[in-house]
Amino acid sequence: MSRERTYIMVKPDGVERGLVGEIIKRFEQKGYKLQALQALQPSRQHLEQHYGDLKDKPFFPKLVDYMLSGPVVGMVWEGKDVVRVGRVMLGATNPLASAPGTIRGDYAIDVGKNICHGSDSVENAEKEIALWFPNGTLQYTRSVDKLIYE
Ligand code: UDP
Ligand code: MG
Repeated sequence: MSRERTYIMVKPDGVERGLVGEIIKRFEQKGYKLQALQALQPSRQHLEQHYGDLKDKPFFPKLVDYMLSGPVVGMVWEGKDVVRVGRVMLGATNPLASAPGTIRGDYAIDVGKNICHGSDSVENAEKEIALWFPNGTLQYTRSVDKLIYE
């Protein structure tokens, strides 16, 4: 079975709006396995590193200020194709282009308040997990996997 992992983060607007449980619930109910979970107020430097690939974009300063506006809840989910499927579950970057049934499609309107982050590749996921969880994540087996995977 694939050991693919992704980094999902509820952004400050999602935390303040009480959507942490809803976002966790969707990944849990899908069958993905939780490997790490933390609430924290990240520093500007940490966020600039997380979004380093976007530092030349015009929206970068606004994005960092948005992400600094309150605590975030970060998590690591493991499972088959979880990076790609996690982004499908989040919906499009612009919530107005996100299908109903996705997290952004159901709970957000503006791109600068789109409530959640999800890694965009397996390679970036591992970089983000190392940045946010430098002490590592849980490793455990679940008996329920035999009811989720064929
Ligand atoms: N963003 C923005 N304006 C834009 C594009 C992106 O404010 O025109 C913000 C938005 O919050 C997005 C984040 O920057 O989630 C990171 O952008 P990216 O292109 O990586 O989108 P994502 O991977 O989050 O869908
Ligand atoms: Mg991205």
